Amino acid sequence: MDSLDSVLAARLADFEARSLRRDLRRITARSGTRVGLNGRELLNFSSNDYLGLSRHPALVEAAAHAARDWGAGSTASRLVCGSLEPHHRLEEALAAWNHTEAALTFSTGFAAATATIPALVGKDDIVLLDKLTHACCVDAARASGATLRVFHHNDPNDLADLLRWADSRGAPRRPHVLIVTESVFSMDGDVAPLREIVELKRRHGAWLFLDEAHATGLLGPTRAGLAESLGLQADVDLHMGTLGKALGAAGGFIAGSRRLAEFLVHAGRGFVFSTAPVPAAVAAAAEGVRIAQSPEGALLASSALENARELARLLPDPIAPRSAIIPWILGDETSALARAATLLESGILAPAIRYPTVPRGRARIRFTVSAAHTRADLDMLRGALGTSPGPAPQDSAA
Ligand SMILES: *Cc1c(COP(=O)(O)O)cnc(C)c1O
Repeated sequence: MDSLDSVLAARLADFEARSLRRDLRRITARSGTRVGLNGRELLNFSSNDYLGLSRHPALVEAAAHAARDWGAGSTASRLVCGSLEPHHRLEEALAAWNHTEAALTFSTGFAAATATIPALVGKDDIVLLDKLTHACCVDAARASGATLRVFHHNDPNDLADLLRWADSRGAPRRPHVLIVTESVFSMDGDVAPLREIVELKRRHGAWLFLDEAHATGLLGPTRAGLAESLGLQADVDLHMGTLGKALGAAGGFIAGSRRLAEFLVHAGRGFVFSTAPVPAAVAAAAEGVRIAQSPEGALLASSALENARELARLLPDPIAPRSAIIPWILGDETSALARAATLLESGILAPAIRYPTVPRGRARIRFTVSAAHTRADLDMLRGALGTSPGPAPQDSAA
């Protein structure tokens, strides 16, 4: 029998041969938009800290206070003795922000999806996923045992076909149909046609799970996400978000009806059988939620989006960004890796994103910007890309 190590060596060699080998970069220092790597200071265009809140004094202080007041750990699952005051306060704030009756927090956004979807649907049901939906929703849908169908990315017509097909299935009972999509897609930065999707879910009586991981903190009048920006909050059955990106802390949440939250406390396995998120993360996230909604949050979000537009103008095929994510699609894995290496030499951290994170042949550099990037930072990137500036932006908020 082959030893585990020899099997793994062969599998790793296979990743290498397909330019899919990955390494963890050891970051030895971090401040604002700079990271220290191998003794060099790099300008970071790869973080999801869109508003720069992870370093905000209010979040750092809230985390420190919570650790002093409540301890470093939560000590147990929420159902045992880990349901602390800070968790409840955060959930009330999340529910108010999303205009839902309730919200429930999880240790990560990944856990929020994998705890929730399999609790709601099972083998007699149907899950319809956008083709580019995040791995956590795909894993969750698979784990549910429901019949999965994938619709073409952001294509309401394809979704409509699948809903008609789902309607035709009646045995042994009429299936529950759950539509799962992201609002801002994590690797493309584009936005779901939410109005059309909501129209379809209404017409077919389906349920809607919306992963707002990259929209929370950025889009909408109070930055609650895409659903808020379109006035569709009441049409989303399950609002999912992360506390680890624009909100600057860690964890995930589901916001929805009181019954939904109550049910997940019984049936969400990743909630029931997992130690509660640590008090420091929860308290920091609550500050993140407060700031995101404040006038300061409005300014931070508009700077981040303004920076995204500026950055997009530096690329060979400029796009009009709808979020803080700007993909530069290069195609094959080796070109993406070579570009990332060139940028790194110029002091820019903007990694190549490859299969399986994105489809084969769609390898890219994924730039993300934050409110903390300055004009000088964008100039440095312009220098590294070797491009001349494009036409002046139409809307200059700065
Ligand atoms: C990051 C991400 C998640 C997972 O959230 P975490 O809190 O990082 O576990 C889920 N969905 C999307 C689209 C994401 O980008």
